[in-house]
Amino acid sequence: MFIHVELVQDSQTIIALIEYCTERDRNSSYYHILHNFFTIIFDSSKTIQTWGNLLDLLVPYAQYGLFASSDVSQAQTINVQKRFKPWYNNIFRHDIQCQQYRKYDEIDSSLCTCCHRPYKSSSCQWSISKAIAYTFDERYDYYMHDIHKCLAITKLGHVINEKWTSQKLNAYKQKQFIKKKNP
Ligand SMILES: [Zn+2]
Repeated sequence: MFIHVELVQDSQTIIALIEYCTERDRNSSYYHILHNFFTIIFDSSKTIQTWGNLLDLLVPYAQYGLFASSDVSQAQTINVQKRFKPWYNNIFRHDIQCQQYRKYDEIDSSLCTCCHRPYKSSSCQWSISKAIAYTFDERYDYYMHDIHKCLAITKLGHVINEKWTSQKLNAYKQKQFIKKKNP
């Protein structure tokens, strides 16, 4: 098992890289530490943000005995991927030249010709690297690595939770642009 968990706190964030191998670790104290770790993070007082359905993502790992599928559903979960699409489509509306202009801003359609809306079907789900690239104009490949995926989920979760408008997003991007030019 190989997973990354970002522990988001008020003033700092910690990314834990968890590696576990039954053959090697089952009878070690490390097993008990991990078992406790999962008991803590799946507590009902915690909120877990994921890209995709948490249960679907973790069910393959239940076989290691570190947690049960029923433990996973104790925590409050937010599927950021599911919440991203309506937020994004509301901010990045169809262009005036697009056939969908002013008709169905929230819907991804095969009739849409906007290049800022890469998905043309309502059943398509955004990939994390595309979501970050199209929202923040940040590099794709950077977010292919797991640590950066954790940070990306938190960043996108934040702007959705805070209901960022296009003005707020543009002001943020402008600030980042100036920072890059004058580090
Ligand atoms: Zn369009």
